[in-house]
Amino acid sequence: MDRANTLEMLIKDNGLLRKQIIWTAPTEADLANFPILSIDDLKKITLGTFQIRMADSYTNQHLQEEGEYRLFIHKENSSLFRVKLQSRFNRRATYQVWIQVDIGEHGHKAIDSYYCTCKTGSRTLGCCSHVCSVLKYCGYDRHQPPSTRRNHRAYSFLDAAVDIAGEEDDDE
Ligand SMILES: [Zn+2]
Repeated sequence: MDRANTLEMLIKDNGLLRKQIIWTAPTEADLANFPILSIDDLKKITLGTFQIRMADSYTNQHLQEEGEYRLFIHKENSSLFRVKLQSRFNRRATYQVWIQVDIGEHGHKAIDSYYCTCKTGSRTLGCCSHVCSVLKYCGYDRHQPPSTRRNHRAYSFLDAAVDIAGEEDDDE
């Protein structure tokens, strides 16, 4: 559990957190190098079903509500994804998730490392709800048929995931 988060070190050593960048809504082209993940892959990465199951059960509830996170993306290079989760209603509820993928691999093995700026985001055993949500959206949800995807409208589960994990920032 004490294994250093090497991606966190890479990001901090290179000043990537402070770098001014232009965020865009993710396109299919942006996500082309993001691996396709099955639910099994997600379970392996998150070490259990807890976060996924909770995110799912809360999704339906949140479909009726307005709270949603917006998702922006920027690629530092073709294999390093930088994702910003920003609440529509609370500007300060913003997290940055970094995911390093291994383009030569498939499934869960293609997720090389990840890091999130939330309190628990540098854990290397399992992951925080933000990383889980980004993995699920980018690797799984967007590959589901449109009819299914409509039920997972926008990114409602991202907001839900924050609520259930109790990972709100202190400054909220
Ligand atoms: Zn996080």
